[in-house]
Amino acid sequence: MDIKANLESLKKSFVNSECKLIAVSKTKPIEDLKKAYEAGIRDFGENKVQEIQAKQPEMPADTRWHMIGHLQSNKVKYIAPYVYLIHGVDSFKLLKEINKQGKKIDRVIPVLLQIHIAEEESKFGFDRQELEEMISSSEFSEISHVHVKGLMGMATFTEDETQIRKEFKSLKQLFESLKNKALPSFVQMEELSMGMSGDYQIAQEEGSTMVRIGSAIFGARNYS
Ligand SMILES: *Cc1c(COP(=O)(O)O)cnc(C)c1O
Repeated sequence: MDIKANLESLKKSFVNSECKLIAVSKTKPIEDLKKAYEAGIRDFGENKVQEIQAKQPEMPADTRWHMIGHLQSNKVKYIAPYVYLIHGVDSFKLLKEINKQGKKIDRVIPVLLQIHIAEEESKFGFDRQELEEMISSSEFSEISHVHVKGLMGMATFTEDETQIRKEFKSLKQLFESLKNKALPSFVQMEELSMGMSGDYQIAQEEGSTMVRIGSAIFGARNYS
């Protein structure tokens, strides 16, 4: 697997060259991450706390660690000191736990709210009503150690481009509507994390600011 060459051709295929690239290195050995680092990558995405914990000390200090998967509340404390951005905040409970851990170590932790946009039932994330309820609650305005920097979403796993585009469009619309809403100062709509190996070009066309790409860089994953 020529990671450097994959990165070069990937960058060339970007519809928006300003869009940030998160290299999703889950299941991949540290040598692969180092190759990507040598090719200029600083942002790495992992979806398991145990794995991110094991890899973090092995990589240079300026590596930025993105937690992209479903995060259990009881594991927040392990990554709170160093995580660069938590993409998958999918419940108020989790947000409050991140705030609590941030408070403990006096660090404001950057996060994205994961929004349910896919047709599939199985995908995590807030629906519109849950989001509305959280934002308008008094508890929400008391958050002090979290910085909500934007939204994240995953489209349905399908070949149907029209469907994918529709889902990304709806996420972008929500992102824009939140921008225009009066929200607490710890909420700022700056980043829209959408797009993976199979759909990043569509996501970029629909306004993504960050794509999370794994297999197009590191090759297919082996789950054994
Ligand atoms: C694994 C994963 C990705 C990357 O998937 P690829 O199809 O390999 O690019 C992106 N986002 C999330 C949340 C993931 O879990």
